[in-house]
Amino acid sequence: MRLTLNQVINTGELLTSSGMPFAVVAQPLAEVPPCDGPVPVVDFGDLGPVRCERCRAYVNPFFAFNDGGRSYTCNLCGHVNQTPRDYYCEIDHNGYRRDHRERAELCRGLCDFVAPAEYQARPPRPPPIVVLLEASIASVTSGIFHAVIASLGAILPTLPPYTEFALVTFDEGVHFYHVGAEGTLRTMSVPDNTEVCLPLPPSALLMRLGDALDHVEQILKALPELVTHSQKADTAFGSALQACHLLLEKTGGRLLCFQHVLPVLGHMKLQQRDDVRLYGTDKERALFAPPEGTGWEALAKEMAKAQVCVSSFHFTSSAYVDVAACAILATRTGGQVYLYQSCVPEQRDVWALKLEVELGRNLRRDFGFEGVMRFRCSKGLSVDEYLMGCTPPPGQMEVDVPGIDADHAFAVTLKHDDKLEDGAPAYVQCALLYTTSAGQRRVRVLTLGLQSTSAMASLYRYADLDALLNVMLRQSIALARKQNMHQVRESVVNATVKMLYCYRKMCASASTAAGQLILPESLKLLPLYTLSLTKNGVLRAGTDVRADERNALMAAGSRMPVASSVAFVYPRLFGVHTLDEYACALEADGTPRLPSMTSLSVEKLEADGAFLLDDATALYLWIGRGVPAAFLEQLLRVRTLEGYDCSRLRVPTLDNDVSIRANRLVNAVRSQRPQLFQSVRVLTAKDPLEGRFLSMLTEDRAQTAMSYVEFLCHVHRQIQQKFTT
Ligand SMILES: [Zn+2]
Repeated sequence: MRLTLNQVINTGELLTSSGMPFAVVAQPLAEVPPCDGPVPVVDFGDLGPVRCERCRAYVNPFFAFNDGGRSYTCNLCGHVNQTPRDYYCEIDHNGYRRDHRERAELCRGLCDFVAPAEYQARPPRPPPIVVLLEASIASVTSGIFHAVIASLGAILPTLPPYTEFALVTFDEGVHFYHVGAEGTLRTMSVPDNTEVCLPLPPSALLMRLGDALDHVEQILKALPELVTHSQKADTAFGSALQACHLLLEKTGGRLLCFQHVLPVLGHMKLQQRDDVRLYGTDKERALFAPPEGTGWEALAKEMAKAQVCVSSFHFTSSAYVDVAACAILATRTGGQVYLYQSCVPEQRDVWALKLEVELGRNLRRDFGFEGVMRFRCSKGLSVDEYLMGCTPPPGQMEVDVPGIDADHAFAVTLKHDDKLEDGAPAYVQCALLYTTSAGQRRVRVLTLGLQSTSAMASLYRYADLDALLNVMLRQSIALARKQNMHQVRESVVNATVKMLYCYRKMCASASTAAGQLILPESLKLLPLYTLSLTKNGVLRAGTDVRADERNALMAAGSRMPVASSVAFVYPRLFGVHTLDEYACALEADGTPRLPSMTSLSVEKLEADGAFLLDDATALYLWIGRGVPAAFLEQLLRVRTLEGYDCSRLRVPTLDNDVSIRANRLVNAVRSQRPQLFQSVRVLTAKDPLEGRFLSMLTEDRAQTAMSYVEFLCHVHRQIQQKFTT
């Protein structure tokens, strides 16, 4: 859990005038570093975890025990509670309970409580998994169908034996598979022109991997043969999704769907509506939502209600697949959206590997099911806005999250209800009630302390720029659904100007020269990040980022952890030719130490150098024209790039220093983003992807956007204008 401000100004008026977003980004099921040990699980038995009787906050290290241990003061609402008799412990001379070091809930800011029966709407169970796979001709001939089947074949045997699983395919109709007791495989098809229904009850279609893995494998083995007879070009994806909803409606569960062509048949059918003439206009935002009246939004609502968590995998060579329509299912139910571009047979090794790693991560990572999340703040503060896909109904504070995984981060902005006492501590607690993959009901509780201050300078000094950027990214994605892209970029810049103007007005000393732009130490990189955000694929002007890609980026951005959002906005550039033997050596905590970064400017790209660029979604290996042949040979096993289609080049692992160091760097970057797999694209000058690569060098001037130096002047001018008006 990270706050944008670790010291908050004590009144709402001052906070508003500072222009600083006050927000918390929480990733409740994040993997904890091995050095921290596993998340402690505390069981209070039938009584359930100790909670404040007034505000229902969970016991945490900041509960203050008084009266010899017989009572405690809640750090969130200030209420004095009687200590339950079974939980009593005497207090030592420092005022701590004698057992506070032995009790995880009293010494760790992160803790799991076993939830007693009263925390369950129904008996918890492991979430069933349904895979919905497109079997159109295009999906089969391009190899997508087979790649998904192959990945499932590798992953399913590694899942826990209690996992229930079903596979459904679709083309013009929806097809279900069942292996009878005698071992015969039956295909049951429901045509698209009829009412959506199931051929068998869900209990007969779902197979428990522990008992029926051989049946599942039989289906996976038979499918490629079965679909070669299919000659169906069009699909009824919407009808198939509705059928899967029926399959999971009673139990809830996880739905993973794989789509390749635009579904033009059946319920919720779609049409080609991507039009670059809309880009940059007020009409563009219609492309960020499902077409009105098509039923996608309604299905998302129903699935969320039934506790079905959807992750969608979209494959495209270049054609429009309408990611926006399906993405609403994932964003409203806590799932993840994956987009595989350039899905052509020549690139199959690249996207098939990416698919296998990402699908494996999706199915194997920590997963919480039937989640209910609640943020509580100490007296004087409350939640203002939810910057995430799932939001509570108006007037309520509990957010239903059908599925929540280790890589999913949520954010809320906070506001003042009251003046805070200067110097007093303040707290935020995030509690997530969820069912583990193994079917246990738990409450994960994260508690964080901060301080209130009356000094504006402290507000800036203790700001967390990385968290701030994560929140700005989410706010701009939310705004893009209401305003046109030009207005969104303007408002990002204006927000930055406001923060820096206020800093200058309230904190800078009078002696500072008027002609100087002054930045607080903690926000030194804010203008650079702001400029980069306006040039990011989510917001940038132009037509090179098409609607499908932009929708996938928006879906990723609205669940992105802080660790990824910085590189997502301001990509990292590393010299590969300058790597030494110590590059990416492991630190004491087991994480690799990355080499220092190079500024994002084309001037830094030495002609005889090689550079790796990490934008948190992909990796680009840029090779200068003057790179020595021997270096190329060691890195890529070619002596020249002249006449090569660089998209065909791969980065092999070879037994030489150049290759070993480059691969170590690639793997180190990848290890920081387990939620996706970053493929490496090799490129050099005049490559078709050069424009894309250069657009990420955000310190340079782009066609319509300023360079970093120009932007600093612009921001400075804007601030000065504010002083004179
Ligand atoms: Zn309380």
